[in-house]
Amino acid sequence: MASATRPAGRVDFHIAIICALPHEADAVTLLFDQFWDEGGDLYGHADGDTNTYTTGRIGNYDVVLVVLPNMGTSAAAVAAANFRSSYSGLKLTFLVGVCGGVPKIGECDAFLGDVVVSKSIIQYDYGRQYPGGFKVKKTADGRANKDIRSLLASFEMELNRERLQTKAREHLSLVQSAALRKRRQADYRYPGLAEDRLFQPNYAHKHELSCKLCAAESDTFCELAYNASCTDIGCDEAKLVAREHHLEDGQFTPEIFIGCVGSGNTVMKSGEDRDRIAAANGCIAFEMEGAGAWEEVPCIVVKGICDYADSHKNKKWQNFAAATAASVAKAMLERYTLEDGLRAATRNAAHDNDRGTERE
Ligand SMILES: [Zn+2]
Ligand SMILES: [Zn+2]
Repeated sequence: MASATRPAGRVDFHIAIICALPHEADAVTLLFDQFWDEGGDLYGHADGDTNTYTTGRIGNYDVVLVVLPNMGTSAAAVAAANFRSSYSGLKLTFLVGVCGGVPKIGECDAFLGDVVVSKSIIQYDYGRQYPGGFKVKKTADGRANKDIRSLLASFEMELNRERLQTKAREHLSLVQSAALRKRRQADYRYPGLAEDRLFQPNYAHKHELSCKLCAAESDTFCELAYNASCTDIGCDEAKLVAREHHLEDGQFTPEIFIGCVGSGNTVMKSGEDRDRIAAANGCIAFEMEGAGAWEEVPCIVVKGICDYADSHKNKKWQNFAAATAASVAKAMLERYTLEDGLRAATRNAAHDNDRGTERE
C-alpha cells in the first residue's frame, strides 16, 4: 500500500477504535498499515484527558486507537467522553474485542471465534426492581445514528455479509502471519474444534465429588474450581451439547451475527442466566463496555466470541477471538464511506500537510 500523508491535527481523524483490554488492542495493531506515532505522540490530547492514544492508518482511513483504563460501563463512558473531547471529528467508532456468546442465535449455532456486531445495545443490568421481578429500562439511544444504521443495514444483505466474511478471513491470516513475523507472544492460530466445548446451560463448572462447597445444592462453587480448567476438575463430557461445525478446507471463517448486544457491569458466567436474559431482551452476546461507550460516542460493537458466558473456564480463545473481531472491524471499515464534505476536507488537509502547513 502506498504510503499516505499524516493528518494535520486531531480533528482530521474520523475513525476511532476502542478496546477494553490490551490483548484486544494488540490484535488490532497488527492490522494497521502505518503508524503516525512511531516517533512519539504528534497529536497530544485535550486538557484533563488521561487516555493514551495510538494513531495510524488502516486502509484509506486515519484511525485513532485507545485502550480503556478499567473494565465496566462507567469506565468506558469516562474514557469515551475524554476521547470525544480530544478527537472532535470522529464519525465512526468501533468497540473491538471479545465477548461471551449466546450459543444459539435464531436458527444458527454460534461458535467460538465467530463475531457479533451490535445493531443496538441494551444495558441489561440497569432498570427497575419490581416485586414481581427486574425490568430493564430501555434507553432511547439504544439505536445507532443514521450513518451507522445505514452501514449496518448494508451488512444485513447476505451478499454483503459474505463479502465481509471473505475479507475478514484475509485479514485474519494477515494478523496471524504478522504476529509470527513480529515475534509477538500472543498466539492467534485457531485453537481447534476440539477446544470449542459447549455444556448444557444448567450444568455448572464445579467439583463432582469430595468438595463440600461444590456439592451444596445451590449454584455455589469453590475458588479452586473457579480457577481450574474443565479437564482438571472433570466436567462431564456427557453434558456437552452436540453441534456440527463445518470448516471449509479445515480453515475457520468467522460467521458474523448482527443484533442486540447485552452490556452490563458484571461478567456473565452462568448458562441459565445467559439464556434467560438473552431471551428476555433479545440479545445475542454479553460484554461490559458497549453501553458506557455508547453514551458518549455512537459506536458499533464488534466482538469475537471467546466463551459461552457460562461458568466453564476457557481462556484459550481470547487471542483468536480478538483477532477475528479486529479482522471483521477492518473489513467493515473498508466498506464505509465518509460523507463527501469530509472526504474533500481530508484530501485538502493531506495536501496542506504535504506543503508543511500546520493547521493546529
Ligand atoms: Zn469445589
Ligand atoms: Zn467446566
